[in-house]
Amino acid sequence: MQKGRAGEIDNDPGVCARCAALGPTCCHLDPVDSEFCFPLSEMEKNRILDCSPISGGFVLQANSRAFVDNVCRLFPGEEDTVRTVFAESDSHFRLAVGDDGACRFLGPQGCTIPRESRPYYCRLFPFWVVGGEVIHFDARICLARREASSLPQILNSIGANRAELRDLYGRLRLAWGLPPARGMQSVKKGF
Ligand code: SF4
Repeated sequence: MQKGRAGEIDNDPGVCARCAALGPTCCHLDPVDSEFCFPLSEMEKNRILDCSPISGGFVLQANSRAFVDNVCRLFPGEEDTVRTVFAESDSHFRLAVGDDGACRFLGPQGCTIPRESRPYYCRLFPFWVVGGEVIHFDARICLARREASSLPQILNSIGANRAELRDLYGRLRLAWGLPPARGMQSVKKGF
């Protein structure tokens, strides 16, 4: 799954609402690619369960070679750590999708999970952090990406800032079981 700031469409007349009106968003995934959905930590899953009445929202997925290779691409230079955290003999939870590829938590007005309880990956997308620098994925499904030609423009379009994204990225690393990235500010233990 690409992820979902489309969750903000309820009160957002901006780019995420316009993206949702056009068709599939970052909260959709081709069901045949579901094994490549980002992993959910136990903590993230439990936080969703604490606030969502929706059942059947998660799938236990084997750590396939292709999945682990995909996660490795997110953390260049940390492949050995990633392969330890996501051992191929093990499994992980991910978000479940319907036959149409929509995340089970996606409602008519966007994500049904309160923003602060959504998976970190959802809250980061379409941004990521590499070497302490905020970058963006070249995700054509994201209207903000299609409309903008530079990172500052995408940040402005979505209303995100680098400090918040770096903090979320640090929390995601902790949640996924990865050590703090070198040179990044530590995050508080509380989520
Ligand atoms: S959890 Fe919410 S924001 Fe994340 S993919 Fe599902 S609907 Fe979108």
